[in-house]
Amino acid sequence: MNNLFGKSLTDLKDICIALGFPKFRGQQLYNWIYKKKVDSLNQCKNLPKQLIEKLETEDYGIYYPKVIKVLEDKQDATKKYLFEMEDGELVESVLMSYNYGNSVCLSTQVGCAMGCRFCASGKNGKNRDLKAQEIAGQLVAIERESGKSISNIVLMGMGEPLDNYEEVLKFIKFTNENLGIGQRHITLSTCGIIDKINDLANEDLQINLAISLHSPFQENREKIMPIAKENHLDDLIKATKDYFDKTGRRVTYEYTVIDNVNNRKEDALELKRLLGDSIHHINLIPLNPVTKNKRFTDNTVNLFFDELNKLGLKSTIRKSNGSNIEAACGQLRNRELEE
Ligand code: SAH
Repeated sequence: MNNLFGKSLTDLKDICIALGFPKFRGQQLYNWIYKKKVDSLNQCKNLPKQLIEKLETEDYGIYYPKVIKVLEDKQDATKKYLFEMEDGELVESVLMSYNYGNSVCLSTQVGCAMGCRFCASGKNGKNRDLKAQEIAGQLVAIERESGKSISNIVLMGMGEPLDNYEEVLKFIKFTNENLGIGQRHITLSTCGIIDKINDLANEDLQINLAISLHSPFQENREKIMPIAKENHLDDLIKATKDYFDKTGRRVTYEYTVIDNVNNRKEDALELKRLLGDSIHHINLIPLNPVTKNKRFTDNTVNLFFDELNKLGLKSTIRKSNGSNIEAACGQLRNRELEE
């Protein structure tokens, strides 16, 4: 199908003109798709029947990722979605409701090629990149299913956003222009691909950047995150500082706390040496165990938080939403594939 969701206002006008209709029909179509968020041409009530028929003959339609499964954590109202894309690939996303608004965590790839040891998304590698409209489609599909309007986006679902650079950039601009979500409400999380961080710094964007750090030691970081081998820690910190200097946007360091691996006293001290002199914010993430036999108490994270605090490092603990519903990225899809 030729998906109309994802087309710009200009594209929609051009399509209408090419089919022999005035360009204001393109504006009407635009309003139905991006303001009313309808999922079929037949719901576009003020469009002439002949236009709808012509669009259908040309194989145009409105398509969003199809909801396959929804899991809800009743305790914190987090919802996890499993979607099927047009080609049958499975993708997952999460809806989180906070007092300041609703936030979605979106996937940027089917699977992931980065292979971080603790992450479920990369277990079977990457199948393909998602297109900008497929990333945005997850958001609209969630709004349609939940009846909630979304104000914030984090690109922290399956995939590495900077390994799908062009489409992710398109997505940011598209969302801004057509879905009315400002760049300051979008956070891009990366495992730290240095040349792409440098490229991103020159794009003149207002988004928030989050770097998955997970260890202040090169050797340990390589063990947890294979990508660290080609993206050396010292160069990563330099690229992050340059990013801040160029954009003025504060960068967040994500740090998944893994007991006895990266929460020792020397880790805290080395973090202090690495980040202490710069403007920083560390977001501690409780490990969401991918294998069932490992469970860590919140205390593991609290103790490390205290340790960082004592050293004067600024950090917060991420509220672990949806832990009752396998909300760590990739878990739901893996289970579905296994079944
Ligand atoms: N590829 C990007 C974005 C997706 S992962 C990145 O690496 O940043 C989003 C965040 O969740 C990353 O910080 C990642 O390391 C973390 N994460 C992945 N699996 C996790 C798990 N099982 N428990 C806790 N954090 C996890």
